Amino acid sequence: MTDHVNGPLRPMPEDWQRALAVVAHPDDLEYGCSAAVAAWTDGGREVAYVLATRGEAGIDAVDPAACGPLREREQRASAAVVGVSTVEFLDHKDGVIEYGLALRRDIAAAIRRHRPELVITLNHRDTWGGVAWNTPDHVAVGRATLDAAGDAGNRWIFPELTEQGLEPWDGVRWVAVAGSSAPTHAVDAAPGMERAVQSLLEHRAYIEALTDQDPEAYCRSFLTANAEAAAERFGGRPAVTFEVFSR
Ligand SMILES: [Zn+2]
Repeated sequence: MTDHVNGPLRPMPEDWQRALAVVAHPDDLEYGCSAAVAAWTDGGREVAYVLATRGEAGIDAVDPAACGPLREREQRASAAVVGVSTVEFLDHKDGVIEYGLALRRDIAAAIRRHRPELVITLNHRDTWGGVAWNTPDHVAVGRATLDAAGDAGNRWIFPELTEQGLEPWDGVRWVAVAGSSAPTHAVDAAPGMERAVQSLLEHRAYIEALTDQDPEAYCRSFLTANAEAAAERFGGRPAVTFEVFSR
């Protein structure tokens, strides 16, 4: 039997055309997996981003009314660096996202609009590798996204979506969780790494508030350390990892 926890990571499935990434905040995808997104868009695949919030509670010194638009601009710029031009916001409230039917419905609606084969989200588990507590927003959005992949395909779970013209989409074949402590699959990080660094760096206001380090050095060391930590399970190649749930 393959050791699920420490065995080799498999290459991500490649027989798909459209991916939808659903996360809680601006910067979640840039910390989590944008090197993989860059590789996918290079290969001609379509990737769209949906964010539950605008990250308006993310910078202590900036009032949410000003912070939301600022972080939205940074998110759109960072998506563009890795070839993503569709960025949508669901306008749940940063820091207090509630797991529940409203969130599942909004994500199911997004899945029906975009009709992806692959759905991406961020770590839905309580902790980051057992050492750091995860935020309630990440847990709520990650779980709701895993659930909504099924909701999107069922005509009777949110019938109001069908009434709005959003036909069921039962075509999601995988939900891939970035930042999971139980990864199963990986993407070679090298081809997209430079753009991943530039993409994270677009969250400049957030990063400058977070650290006294040089922003570019901070982004580069965070992303390369994560990718290199996965290399021993991916043939020695730095990698972006995912826990993949097939459907
Ligand atoms: Zn976040």
